[in-house]
Amino acid sequence: MAAYVNRTISMMAGDGPHNVGLNNGNVRVNMSNVDSPLQIFVRAKKKINDIFVEIDDYVKDAVTFMHAVSGDNSIATPQDVTNVEAYVSKVQAIREVLKRDHMKVAFFGRTSNGKSTVINAMLHDKILPSGIGHTTNCFLQVEGSDTDEAFLRTEGSDEKQPVQSVSQLGHALCASRLQECSLVHVYWPRELCALLRDDVVLVDSPGVDVTPNLDEWIDQYCLDADVFVLVANAESTLMVTEKNFFHKVSTKISQPNIFILNNRWDASASEPEYLDQVRTQHANRCVDFLSRELRVCSPKEAEERIFFISAKEALLTRMREREKPVTSPMLVEGHQVRYFEFVDFERKFEECISQSAVRTKFAQHSRRGKNIASDVMAKLDQVYNSATEQKSAKVEKQRILHEQLSSIEEQLTTVTRQMKDKINRMVESVEHKVSLTLSQEIRRLSALVDEYDTPFRADRAALEQYKRALHRHVEAGLGSRLKKRLSHDIGHEMDEAQKEMAERMYNILPMHKRAAAATVMQPHQQPFEVLYRLNCDNLCADFTEDLSFRFSYGLTAIIQRFQGRGHTKTALKNAPQYTPILATITPAPNSVELARPGGVIGPFSAEEWSLVSKFALGALTSQGTMGGLLLSGLLLKTVGWRIVAVTGAVYGALYLYERLTWTAKAQERLFKKQYVTHASNKLRLIVDLTSANCSHQVQQELSTMFARLCRLIDEATTEMDEELCEVREAIKMLEDASTSAKKLRNKANYLGHELELFDDAFLAHTN
Ligand code: GDP
Repeated sequence: MAAYVNRTISMMAGDGPHNVGLNNGNVRVNMSNVDSPLQIFVRAKKKINDIFVEIDDYVKDAVTFMHAVSGDNSIATPQDVTNVEAYVSKVQAIREVLKRDHMKVAFFGRTSNGKSTVINAMLHDKILPSGIGHTTNCFLQVEGSDTDEAFLRTEGSDEKQPVQSVSQLGHALCASRLQECSLVHVYWPRELCALLRDDVVLVDSPGVDVTPNLDEWIDQYCLDADVFVLVANAESTLMVTEKNFFHKVSTKISQPNIFILNNRWDASASEPEYLDQVRTQHANRCVDFLSRELRVCSPKEAEERIFFISAKEALLTRMREREKPVTSPMLVEGHQVRYFEFVDFERKFEECISQSAVRTKFAQHSRRGKNIASDVMAKLDQVYNSATEQKSAKVEKQRILHEQLSSIEEQLTTVTRQMKDKINRMVESVEHKVSLTLSQEIRRLSALVDEYDTPFRADRAALEQYKRALHRHVEAGLGSRLKKRLSHDIGHEMDEAQKEMAERMYNILPMHKRAAAATVMQPHQQPFEVLYRLNCDNLCADFTEDLSFRFSYGLTAIIQRFQGRGHTKTALKNAPQYTPILATITPAPNSVELARPGGVIGPFSAEEWSLVSKFALGALTSQGTMGGLLLSGLLLKTVGWRIVAVTGAVYGALYLYERLTWTAKAQERLFKKQYVTHASNKLRLIVDLTSANCSHQVQQELSTMFARLCRLIDEATTEMDEELCEVREAIKMLEDASTSAKKLRNKANYLGHELELFDDAFLAHTN
């Protein structure tokens, strides 16, 4: 009773979420529901919806990320991707449920206790049919429609049945002849009713006294109800059927929120003397029922859930407020107090249903949201750790590759410089050796030419053939001599140089490349041979032999001998060159000495020599005969005729001897002598060229091998460079992956934090 009085005073003072104003005896309810406790649910629903939109984005981002990192690098396995993908549908399902989440209140009581009238009063309009007798023959669920039209839908059908008024609704319900257990959805424009706008769904039921199928009812319509309202008849008392129903409810639902409305309290106005007694009796029984029998709350809490109202008066008041036509304008004594109590019930109901719905519906969503965020975060943690580990390994690999590459580069620079020096030294050495050896071989060319013993014939054609063959012989002979003397040395040096080169390059190569390179680095199977291209054919092409018979001691021969000598030292100018055969020339500043068979004739002074030669020349040329006679006369006069005769005889004998011995053999000897002289001169000219050519071959051989080895190193470093690029790319990818994983982890933390804030804001005080 005290609670009742307090509530009434409180409401009279305009306290509470509903601003109730008295206007000339009429009660006006402000339709604004900004401060309504229902807004807790509305705000909580919006907030958790927003969070789940973010969770949805987050999970989708995580899936995209997992796909991106589940390639070859194995940061994430396909199973990880599948696991994360599964959360997308889970989040979708929660969002679907969230969309449909509402606050549900179910009204129960015996037939005609006024359930429909209470719902109508709460909705401020006559929405549900009410009247004497059994009006509600099935479950009616009133919920907000987003459109301006009111319509209904029977269970299992999508067909909209238009409803313009309550009478039509009643008609529609009658026409459809529904089972008592069936459900009809009544959609009423949200904008017309604050409760509907705030996502409250109201369920009217057939009387609990008309059906034995209470269990079925509970299973079908009660399990998700946030609040139960027992509409009792204050004119009688709580009935066993009503109590039984709630006993069943409390066995199936733990701690259901039950309000008891003692309706039709306007009847008490006719018996004011028993009002307090009856009220106390009803209140005690109800408190006892809730706290002791059902044990759903304490007696004190139960007192706050029991109301004495007149739904009929409340509806009437509200209809008047909305200036709707009403058939029964008469309100009996105390209607204002009963109306205040009805409003008080609404406030308590709203607080209760809002808190209960937030707790029962959103607490589990929040919990699941946190689980999803933390599960996905755990997967991302795995990816992050794996990416970090792989990144460290790759960074180490990059460091090693860097070091290897710079070490190879450094070593290669050193080896290249050293090998260049080595090649240069070898080239010089070979050039020197070839030059020396070739010069020596040229000096013994006559022996080589003498070895050639093909029959010699002096006719032109045979001679040409002989010359060509001799060219070949000389070339082959010189070549093989050079080869014999040099190839061992040069070959050995080359081998050593190549081995050293290969060894040093092999050591530069990275370990894993050495095995493959070993075969390539083997020096040639064939030892290196220098080719000595002397090309005697061309070199001696201009060789012209002179095989005409010349008496060694004829005047012409002697003069020619002098001329030959004079070519270098004497005053004989512009005379044809002849090789001195028996002359030994000892260079002296102003004198020459002629060596002849039989001894030295004597030295001549330069002037004398000039005179004799002029004379001899004159004798031999224009005044030959005259000169000869003068010379003979001079000799006869000087030495006497006997000596002249003896000399003449010896001279003649010598001539005869030489003439007789001028055979093919002699011609061959002369030919070879001339050839040797000619070839030696020519060959001497090409000594430098040939040695340079040989050293060039050596240089070529060594450079080619060095280039081949460099190519191997180059291939290895190119591969290492490519590997380095790959490693760099992998590091970049792993960095991106770990950054993304970190961001997503942070987002998971943020979402977890958001859900914690949600719990603090909406769930903490509901527990
Ligand atoms: P339901 O079967 O429980 O839904 O009951 P209804 O809402 O259809 O009401 C049955 C009858 O009781 C109707 O004629 C109502 O006008 C009437 N009624 C409902 N509430 C009250 C009330 O508080 N006082 C009076 N006097 N009659 C009421």
